Amino acid sequence: MDFPLNDEEKGKPLEELRLLGLAVDATNRGVLILDEDRRIIYTNRAFTDLFGYARDEVAGKRPSEFLPGTNTDATTFERLRRGAWDNQVVHGDTLLYSKSGREIWVSASVSPIKDNDGAVTNLVIVLVDITETKQIQNLQRIVLEAVASGLPLRGVADLICRQVETISPEVYSSMLLVDDEGRLHPLAGPRLPKEYSASLDGLRIGANVGSCGTAAYLAKTVVVTDIDTDPLWENHKSAVLPLGFQACWSSPIKMRDSRVAGTFAFYYKEKRGPSALHMELVSACLHLSMLAIETDDARHKIAQLSHFDSLTGLPNRQSLYDKAADLLPVEQGKETAFFALDLDRFKDINDTLGHSIGDRILIEAAYRLQKLTHPRSIVSRTEGDVFMIVVPDCNVSRASALADHILEELRAPINVSGLSLSTSASIGISIAQEQMAPEIFAEQAVSAMQQAKLAGRACYYFYNPEQNQIAKDRLILGNALRSAFGTESINLVYQPKVRLKNLELVGVEALSRWNDALLGEIAPGKFIPLAEEIGQIEAIGYWSLREACRQMALWRGEGVAVPNVSVNLSPLHFLNRSLTAFIEGVLAEFQLSASCLTIEITEGVMVGQNQESLATAMALHDIGVALSIDDFGTGFSSLSRLAKLPVKELKLDDSFVRNIEEDPNAQAVATAVISIGHSLGITIVSEGVETEKQAGLLERLGCEVAQGFLFGKPMRAHELEAYLMHRETRLSRDAD
Ligand code: C2E
Ligand code: MG
Ligand code: MG
Repeated sequence: MDFPLNDEEKGKPLEELRLLGLAVDATNRGVLILDEDRRIIYTNRAFTDLFGYARDEVAGKRPSEFLPGTNTDATTFERLRRGAWDNQVVHGDTLLYSKSGREIWVSASVSPIKDNDGAVTNLVIVLVDITETKQIQNLQRIVLEAVASGLPLRGVADLICRQVETISPEVYSSMLLVDDEGRLHPLAGPRLPKEYSASLDGLRIGANVGSCGTAAYLAKTVVVTDIDTDPLWENHKSAVLPLGFQACWSSPIKMRDSRVAGTFAFYYKEKRGPSALHMELVSACLHLSMLAIETDDARHKIAQLSHFDSLTGLPNRQSLYDKAADLLPVEQGKETAFFALDLDRFKDINDTLGHSIGDRILIEAAYRLQKLTHPRSIVSRTEGDVFMIVVPDCNVSRASALADHILEELRAPINVSGLSLSTSASIGISIAQEQMAPEIFAEQAVSAMQQAKLAGRACYYFYNPEQNQIAKDRLILGNALRSAFGTESINLVYQPKVRLKNLELVGVEALSRWNDALLGEIAPGKFIPLAEEIGQIEAIGYWSLREACRQMALWRGEGVAVPNVSVNLSPLHFLNRSLTAFIEGVLAEFQLSASCLTIEITEGVMVGQNQESLATAMALHDIGVALSIDDFGTGFSSLSRLAKLPVKELKLDDSFVRNIEEDPNAQAVATAVISIGHSLGITIVSEGVETEKQAGLLERLGCEVAQGFLFGKPMRAHELEAYLMHRETRLSRDAD
């Protein structure tokens, strides 16, 4: 060996020097020795291995001539170069370049060798390859910067995987999240086939669910060096083996509280386990992943806090405004109601019973308000004891009904810490009928709420005075309607339905009339919807059924030939299972057969295909009561659907009849309804027939039965008797 000797070493036993040379050559650190002129006089084997230069290629050169390159930090390099000549040992990390141009990070230490006079004669440079460590540090820096800059979790996960794969191209990395129910969800896996990642979505973790499912379940690293034979992959290997993956090493991502939030895995295309570098990479990445997930969780919590009220979980004011903008009327005729609701004397509760009881009341109020409102409505808590509710498709009348319900619901006692407390609220309502910022309607509602407070609390006020008037009228009307039952002011009138070809009476339709002593005659078009809103419609229905049957029984007894009576019922009745039993009871009470009675319902009842409604319709059919679909053509039901329902009669809406002479569309609809009705064995009744021409045309189109002013207006029972007598004499005279 040609190990160079300085003056001091000359004379040492040769064996000792040989051993020394061997030792230097055997180390994995690159060693360079420079002479006084800073030229290389010695390099060891490790240097050649690391940098690719043979000893002869560099002998006599200065390191600065070939080791630094484009990305070498000049300052560090210069410090190392100069330092030792200043008689001290210098250390530093620097980036150098191999013969092939590969970047190599080294930790360098440069030591001076001095002669007897203390002058530096040689330098010994030791270079340790720290490229991998530097790469990992670099990865950490890049990922931390990304986390700090607010990159979403998915982006950070993707970045981690890509960085790892750049450092170790033989690795196919994957990151999965584990949800609270123990299901896996793919987060990143840039080099895994998308379909494979997607197939893992929702997979439940378990004791032998591949590498990741098991690692998450056991909260332990799982190394599978041969997917094909490992029992952990028994049920899952068919998805990965065809992709060429043979091994998979997965580690749980644990949070500070030891909860497993995800997994980080390396797939390999050969049967193997992780290398030392892989272990270092994973250890760094698990920590980074934990930080990324933690930051993401925190971000979600902040977002939650900024949009939701933490006590009740309801949206806060800002969130309400954001959401309300979507509910505002975009088309003419649609109205959206804004309710501002302030709990009455809430301050007293807080002051006397304490804040924790106050909080319980707020939570309960929030719960009750949500329960009362339609799912599309927004219930929010905007401050202290103020709630704001936005209800789409809500006019003055509906808003009044909802306000009544809210007041009633809040009155029900709340049990808190052994106390039974009841509360009330002052409510202000603004009805949005045009497009304006939600804030404006909210302010109007608050100002109406102040009025409600001034008016003595536990009541509601509309912002718009006209709307207040409508609400007041509605209140008066509602109260009058409640007390009208059982009095003479509500009664039934009957309108004949006749067979067009011979004007034979096929039945009568019972229609409600309300003639209030103070308010005068109120049209059913007004009081029926009101009765629906104030919860009186079922009572009206039961009353009409009983009254119509009572009248039928009277006619039967007196020999008046009315074959059938139709009663209008609202869709609500059909949701009530007891309707059939009620009808059976009434028929029995008046000893009538079911064939005397027809129930008219609007298309809507059947269109929704609500199971309850269908069951009621079937039950009525089973006891022999006929069903008639009223106002047909105004809803959305299709004739084909009717074929499946137990329908006996269809009433063609008067809007088609009115225009039948001049409007070809109306005539086309009438023709279609009549012919399909025939084919289904359903009787078609034309409503609102007022002229001979209409009647003639309808008859020619094949319509058998008609109802309308032409044949008779709705009339009181005794008027109908007179009408029938008069008609009989007329018909028999015509026959003569
Ligand atoms: P409907 O069941 O379609 O009743 C037919 C309506 O058309 C009745 O109006 C009747 O008076 C009117 N009408 C009949 N022939 C003619 C005509 O030739 N020309 C015109 N212009 N109109 C005619 P009414 O009595 O005002 O009832 C309106 C609606 O109120 C009814 O429509 C029905 O849906 C509902 N209704 C009436 N009474 C009750 C009831 O007791 N319960 C329920 N749930 N609804 C009822
Ligand atoms: Mg009707
Ligand atoms: Mg009708």
